[in-house]
Amino acid sequence: MAEIELRNVCKRWGTFVGVHSVDLKIADREFLVLLGPSGCGKTTTMRMIAGLEDVSEGEIRIGDRLVNDLDPKDRDVAMVFQSYGLYPNMTVYENIRFPLKVRKAVPSTHDERVKRAAEMVELSDFMHRKPSELSGGQRQRVALARAIVRKPSVFLMDEPLSNLDAKLRVSTRAQIKNLSHELQATTIYVTHDQIEAMTLADRVVVMNRGKIQQVGSPTEIYDRPSNTFVAGFIGSPAMNLVEGEIRGGVFEAKNVRIEGLSMPDGPVIVGFRAEDAAVASSAGEISAPVYTMELLGDSTMIAVRAGGGMVSVKAAKDYRAEIGDPVSLSVPAAICHIFDKTTGARIE
Ligand code: ATP
Repeated sequence: MAEIELRNVCKRWGTFVGVHSVDLKIADREFLVLLGPSGCGKTTTMRMIAGLEDVSEGEIRIGDRLVNDLDPKDRDVAMVFQSYGLYPNMTVYENIRFPLKVRKAVPSTHDERVKRAAEMVELSDFMHRKPSELSGGQRQRVALARAIVRKPSVFLMDEPLSNLDAKLRVSTRAQIKNLSHELQATTIYVTHDQIEAMTLADRVVVMNRGKIQQVGSPTEIYDRPSNTFVAGFIGSPAMNLVEGEIRGGVFEAKNVRIEGLSMPDGPVIVGFRAEDAAVASSAGEISAPVYTMELLGDSTMIAVRAGGGMVSVKAAKDYRAEIGDPVSLSVPAAICHIFDKTTGARIE
């Protein structure tokens, strides 16, 4: 069993707080993704779990052991980082075998275990090559094989796909998901890429400025973001956020009028997703000139100015308009998310 628990975990350097009292329970065999912008504390959180960084306050448990004072090598975790960390003078075979040698695994089992790990990441034909003779994607797979060869109960991965091109990222992503399932390991995966997070995770932890903003399944985070930070970070494009005022159940901002919101009067932020709104055939909730239009292949994205900013709406793929043409958009109350204007917290 490799359940992981963080209780009130903090990381401080002098007066700077990198991670604020994080509480988190990761279930055995769960695939958990730590997601957030650069500097939000996700790598530090993972390094504390790995034992590469001391905890300033709080407790970390792996299985039923308190690991705060355990060395990384005694935590039964395997790590994969964005820089592959391969030994340039060793072959692929020797690189993959390295952790077995270090940990003094029974030598007679090495060959079979190395071959099995190589097979899992489709590297069997490259065993005798040196890292310099491999592509970026192949090197990343050697790093993965080296992590899986020990069959650890916990995998920690820090942006393992960031050095790969877009196409390889997609195929290696699928491979990581499959491997973690096959190995039945608990995986914590750090990324700033929300698509990676949404496609890989059982649950996503969204972080910002050292604090957890929301923990939930990809669907929960997408459908019910708990604040404007999460709403603006998840989705592509991110959720439209419009500042305005509710009076008598009607939300108003520049070029916007949405009726039927049963909310107390006052300033709020209304959010809605581009794909939930539509171009209206008659007068809609937003009326403004077209600011830009982008053809996306399966749809057309239209942007207009509304409230103090810009909103995007997905239209049919054959929708056409010129910049400056008046357009009316359907944004009914039912698709709107309402956030507190001061705190950004979700109200409805
Ligand atoms: P990135 O995606 O850029 O790697 P991250 O979310 O992983 O970002 P962390 O590396 O965890 O962010 O850093 C969190 C914060 O802690 C940052 O503001 C960073 O500057 C700070 N930090 C990290 N290491 C140290 C250190 N050794 N001393 C002081 N501050 C640090």
